[in-house]
Amino acid sequence: HAQRLTGLGTTIFAEMSALAARTGSVNLGQGFPDTDGPDSLLEDAIAAIRAGANQYAPGRGVPTLRQAIVDHQKRFYGLEYDPDTEVLVTTGATEAIAAALLAYVEPGDEVIALEPYYDSYAAGIAMAGGHRVPVTLRAPDYRLDLDELRAAVTPRTKVLLINSPHNPTGSVLTDPELRGIAGLAIEHDLVVITDEVYEHLIYDELQHHPLASYDGMADRTVSISSAGKTFSVTGWKIGWITGSPSVVTAVNTAKQFLTFTSGAPFQPAVANALALGNEYFDALRADLQARRDLLCDGLESLGFEVHRPQGTYFVTTDVRPLGYTDGIDFCRMLPDRAGVVAIPHQVFYDNTESGRPLVRWAFCKQPHILQEALTRLTQL
Ligand code: PMP
Ligand code: GLN
Repeated sequence: HAQRLTGLGTTIFAEMSALAARTGSVNLGQGFPDTDGPDSLLEDAIAAIRAGANQYAPGRGVPTLRQAIVDHQKRFYGLEYDPDTEVLVTTGATEAIAAALLAYVEPGDEVIALEPYYDSYAAGIAMAGGHRVPVTLRAPDYRLDLDELRAAVTPRTKVLLINSPHNPTGSVLTDPELRGIAGLAIEHDLVVITDEVYEHLIYDELQHHPLASYDGMADRTVSISSAGKTFSVTGWKIGWITGSPSVVTAVNTAKQFLTFTSGAPFQPAVANALALGNEYFDALRADLQARRDLLCDGLESLGFEVHRPQGTYFVTTDVRPLGYTDGIDFCRMLPDRAGVVAIPHQVFYDNTESGRPLVRWAFCKQPHILQEALTRLTQL
């Protein structure tokens, strides 16, 4: 295979979900909900199939979905976009990330990513021929050190790839951190790809601030989100970007030759879901916050050092208080010993030392499943 695939291996999520199936483990590894999104959403997709929405959708997305994305950005963040020129529907956020990197990264360019990073970032950067430059978010609260970010910028830096709420740490970038990122991007004329797929999964009354809302960022920001997270339909693979007309045109130039268009019958259904009342979004948060606390309290009482997340549906623990030193060893042992699967942080780092004792657990599961996992973990 080509050099650009070297080191990409098999994604940890496929590996760990296969391990969970093989060992009959409770799967708190790969992040996907074990219940589906709202009934109205599911019914709308079925109705769209019956009504004949089964051929290629328009390349940029069906007009109702593009309008709904615009309305959503206005309603939650006061941001204004033109549905014809400033929105692009993608095949999940994963395609959006890959297409954005292909659109902006020249071979040899440097892309700064917050480490630990979601695994498709490393692959996307590599496939675009770029070099990854990590800036590490450190336990226990995983704040961004703006001086470290500044120090990582070189004349070869082209793109900052950020993610908030952040997978796997669950940290949410603060207003000063976002201002710092924006300032640096403007000073060095960088494009910022901002992965905001967990925008609605944010707890304790915290607010999500889109990077695109900061002064001077509109023309250099690729904002990414996904229906998979907000509506618990990860298998639908409907994501989107918003950005200036030139940003959207650039990303679409890549997207049109990756997939051409994205899941036609799902698009009108997601359009309706984006217009659901605030009670949907509030209930999603409240529900996941309760699950977060159930799992975090349980892991704490089992002796783990728990880094309770501000957002996402993942919690990170340090396994050293239980006598383990290495998260990979811990996660390999876990299915046989306790019948539970989790994800070692190390796979999300270049500086693997920083992630060595850390393990990620997904809490987007029904409470009785989380309880079952906790009961099994008492066997450790
Ligand atoms: N970005 C992050 C941070 C994620 O956690 C995920 C979901 N695993 C994605 C992107 C991919 O989203 P999608 O399933 O819509 O492709
Ligand atoms: N985003 C999910 C996670 O981080 C799963 C993504 C995947 O399986 N590629 O666990």
